[in-house]
Amino acid sequence: MLGNLKPQAPDKILALMGEFKADPRQGKIDLGVGVYKDATGHTPIMRAVLEAEKRMLATETTKTYAGLSGEPDFQKAMGEMILADGYKPETTAALATVGGTGAIRQALELARMANPDLRVFVSDPTWPNHISIMNFMGLPVVTYRYFDNDTRAVNFEAMVEDISTAKKGDVVLLHGCCHNPTGANLNIEQWAEVASILEKTGATPLIDLAYQGFGDGLEEDAAGTRLIASRIPEVLIAASCSKNFGIYRERTGCLLALCTDKATKDLAQGAMAFLNRQTYSFPPFHGAKIVATVLNDADLRADWMAELEEVRGGMLRLRTTLANELRDLSGSDRFGFIAEHRGMFSRLGASPEQVALMKQEFGIYMVGDSRLNIAGLNDETVPILARAIIEAGV
Ligand code: PMP
Repeated sequence: MLGNLKPQAPDKILALMGEFKADPRQGKIDLGVGVYKDATGHTPIMRAVLEAEKRMLATETTKTYAGLSGEPDFQKAMGEMILADGYKPETTAALATVGGTGAIRQALELARMANPDLRVFVSDPTWPNHISIMNFMGLPVVTYRYFDNDTRAVNFEAMVEDISTAKKGDVVLLHGCCHNPTGANLNIEQWAEVASILEKTGATPLIDLAYQGFGDGLEEDAAGTRLIASRIPEVLIAASCSKNFGIYRERTGCLLALCTDKATKDLAQGAMAFLNRQTYSFPPFHGAKIVATVLNDADLRADWMAELEEVRGGMLRLRTTLANELRDLSGSDRFGFIAEHRGMFSRLGASPEQVALMKQEFGIYMVGDSRLNIAGLNDETVPILARAIIEAGV
């Protein structure tokens, strides 16, 4: 039976990771996979996370099953972190999931349960796994124009035109902040306009919030999501704790379904619990408990926020340094967008040939669409990358 399986194309980013590992060159630079790294190339465990784990180890007395939809302390902490005062637990269904990916998958399953004719609007480009999951589920995908390859900014006019064609019953997938793969984001006025379009069309937003705290700050990065939540009656939010808590392998995420009334919330909550039960039964506990412990303890929370700010500030500084270096080398401002982009990624706008050349000649690994992970850089490697970009003719 299993011999009937068709070979699957390997995930491009994971394949690139393997290629990087196998490269024997000393000075190779990994700007591929979306993982935060410090200046030494290490992905550290955050201080508050480590302390929360110590406390858990000292106090936990059982490993029996916990909540099918996750634990209430985690759900509440996530609801408040994402929505602040706008979090209304009485009308919000919440589900602990296997990472942000699990939240996206369950959100799409939920939407399809509610509307079997579901179509999903996604930005062009988007995180490739969005498309891959939707294709696997057999969901019709409609792309909306998003990134302007010339300016390397959002082509908002085109986005507006395209998402205006969505209809009630469609889902419009939006990146809450730190757009992956481009790094180009909506400003708050543009979020307001998106809200107006959603009001007009009746389409349901699904906000993928995988990098809260990596762009302009923990509160600032949720501003678009909060605005949508304040104006649109039904909103789905798929949040990941992988990046902002640095707990990638613990697989911690959360799906929020904002409803108009308690009866609908109960329906959504029941369907979401059902989806967990059908997929993997109980969601992972450990990472969610870490997050709840950190967010619900004033000292741990303050320390986590301080460290998250260090991480964010470090990436911003690298952006500015790289943009300045490229301005000096190119004698132009055409790379200024690198300092304007936010989050871990920027799409450079290099051709596949130029990306290949940077890999061959300089040992610099970035994703084939020229997405680079800013956190893969440090003060020594910024000038090397800048030179490679110019020499590759970008
Ligand atoms: N959404 C986006 C845009 C992402 O970049 C990622 C991580 N690469 C995720 C969701 C999912 O993250 P995870 O499942 O690791 O929590």
